[in-house]
Amino acid sequence: GNRQVDVVVIGAGAAGLMCAATAGYQGHRVLLLDHANKPGKKILMSGGGRCNFTNLNTTPEHFVSANPHFCKSALKRYSPWHFVDLVERHGVEHVEKAPGQLFCADSAKDVLRVLLTECEWAGAQVQLNTSIRRVSYKDPGFELVTSEGTVACRKLVVATGGLSIPTMGATGFGYQLADQFGLKVYPTRAGLVPFTLQPSDKDWLAALSGISTEVVAQAGGARFAEPLLITHRGLSGPAMLQVSSFWQPGQSVHVDWLPAVADPRAALIDERQQHPNRSLERWLRQYFSQRLAAALVAQFGWQGNLQQFSNDRLGDVAATLKGWQFKPSGTEGYRTAEVTLGGVDTDAISSRDFQVKEVPGLHFIGEVLDVTGQLGGFNFQWAWASGWCTGMAL
Ligand code: FAD
Repeated sequence: GNRQVDVVVIGAGAAGLMCAATAGYQGHRVLLLDHANKPGKKILMSGGGRCNFTNLNTTPEHFVSANPHFCKSALKRYSPWHFVDLVERHGVEHVEKAPGQLFCADSAKDVLRVLLTECEWAGAQVQLNTSIRRVSYKDPGFELVTSEGTVACRKLVVATGGLSIPTMGATGFGYQLADQFGLKVYPTRAGLVPFTLQPSDKDWLAALSGISTEVVAQAGGARFAEPLLITHRGLSGPAMLQVSSFWQPGQSVHVDWLPAVADPRAALIDERQQHPNRSLERWLRQYFSQRLAAALVAQFGWQGNLQQFSNDRLGDVAATLKGWQFKPSGTEGYRTAEVTLGGVDTDAISSRDFQVKEVPGLHFIGEVLDVTGQLGGFNFQWAWASGWCTGMAL
């Protein structure tokens, strides 16, 4: 068939659903298209099935972008409290798991239900199983050739997200479209993703799979005090996911295994004085699980009683614990990454209505843009904020 609407939104994910509902309430005829058989798949799998749907402490500093100022305006106009208010109006129970991090008390399905209900109330039509074959500019709007026929629209919003989790429907379509309209796209790479290890590190760490410990991790100028999780594939947990977004291939990651002890050398010298016949391993067990303490001793040759350790050697132990470094062999990539770094250059886009400055009527929102949040609900807040601001402005 041949259809004419006011607004087409491509991508029924977090940003697209929010934008479609908001635009619908503004009185526009809105068609939301997705090639997938279900909307909001990433919402459903997010936050371990509970969707960490916002973070009350959202600030622009929680985002990585070539232009750190771009996200400010939208984040200010659509705050975490606006989204909290929305889910509460729909009766969704939520819990604050870590400071500021809000999750559904029950299921991520609740958030998706809110968005689909809003689309319905706003009269925005959601059409799934629709592939977009071609998009062309037809003054004063756009024409889309899809697997289900041709659609003409005045405004086109691209909300196709990033490349993470291809099995959930992620494609590079938004980047291709940006390219087609002459926009710069920053190189993309996986973010919030576990690291894989070189054989020398994997050899001893893989045996510790399942162990989690509080660390301070640093890479690429960023620093996070969070748990590290050892897996059979490499290093994960919030600390590693966070630094992965700042790490560049070839760089080292710096890990303080013992953030709880400021000066382990002094602490160990003191311990040696009081308990010379105790093992170093015993001291380590105050801070680490038995398995991890034993593995550290074996890996770094710290066997023996404290009286056998000179001040210099205790200094070496302290330096290793506070400043362990590893060079990841890489990351697990888009297969498990929560987000995609890089994307559509925001300099070409208005931070007010997300319109491409040189192509009136064309908008990019959500993760397809070169704006990537840290772990903790910031990525959804970006999707809601960019979707809402665009929906209001169309
Ligand atoms: P998406 O939600 O990815 O939506 C894009 C939509 O576009 C999809 O429906 C897709 O099918 C559609 N699409 C793609 N290509 C095409 C095409 N060619 N044609 C038609 N349609 C297309 N963030 C948080 O803030 N909190 C969390 O708890 C959290 N947990 C996560 C857990 C996992 C496992 C993953 C992978 C991500 C998580 N994120 C989380 C990140 C968050 O899901 C994304 O940042 C967010 O969904 C981005 O919203 P979006 O609307 O831009 O893109």
